[in-house]
Amino acid sequence: MSPKTIISVNDLHKSYGDFKAVQGISFEVFEGEIFGLLGPNGAGKSTTLEIIETLREKTSGAILVDGIDLDKSPEAIKKIIGVQLQSSGFYPNLNLIELIHLFVGLYQNQVDAIELLKKVNLEDKAKAKYKELSGGQKQRFSIATTLINNPKIIFLDEPTTGLDPQARRNLWELIKEIRDNGTTVIITTHYMDEAEILCDRVAIVDSGKIISINTPNALIDELVATGFEKVKEVKKANLEDVFIHLTGKEWRED
Ligand code: ADP
Repeated sequence: MSPKTIISVNDLHKSYGDFKAVQGISFEVFEGEIFGLLGPNGAGKSTTLEIIETLREKTSGAILVDGIDLDKSPEAIKKIIGVQLQSSGFYPNLNLIELIHLFVGLYQNQVDAIELLKKVNLEDKAKAKYKELSGGQKQRFSIATTLINNPKIIFLDEPTTGLDPQARRNLWELIKEIRDNGTTVIITTHYMDEAEILCDRVAIVDSGKIISINTPNALIDELVATGFEKVKEVKKANLEDVFIHLTGKEWRED
């Protein structure tokens, strides 16, 4: 069965004055996949995503989200996507239930706050203030807020930056669960191990252009086929495995 396209971006350009930040990007995201946008700082990832999220004006190009034309109905697109806010958007002294009600007010939607917290394994923390959460819990809460309007697609911007290895793995499982429940996930990350484990497909962006797009496996195979070899012999475990092994089980509450 061929995959259904849920986002299509065609020849997207964005200039800031004379500077061309995005220079003719085209790609498709398939329904139900975790799609990674990878690339060095300044490559144009955030610009591209914020245009799709209807938060930034494009210079030219065509974008369809679930069949909706961005130029015609940006408001309709807003209703079917969830965008992760930077944590600075949360009031530190409100508890999680209060924060959810605040967001629900913004969306004018009915939401069972406890059900939402259950989805990200935070029901025990319902009465905790935001500032009392660990780094991993804050990220999980921030992902919960993207799910408030039951979106078809969520956008996660470097969701695991700064987390310890257990919290990072917990978050990977959560993101896979969200995908398995039918939501398409677009994610940016600078961690290639994470992209390899988590993403069904990735696009690599550099200087405002997509320079490669495929499954992580296929990209690795393509590189190996060119005769590339690692300088160092690969061991059966890495330092992260040592860390996880020594500090306890992966599923420790973070
Ligand atoms: P990434 O997310 O890949 O790090 P960005 O999309 O944030 O890249 O930025 C791409 C380029 O566009 C960078 O060189 C950045 O400095 C520039 N840029 C981003 N936003 C603006 C803006 N509002 N005004 C001018 N230049 C910008």
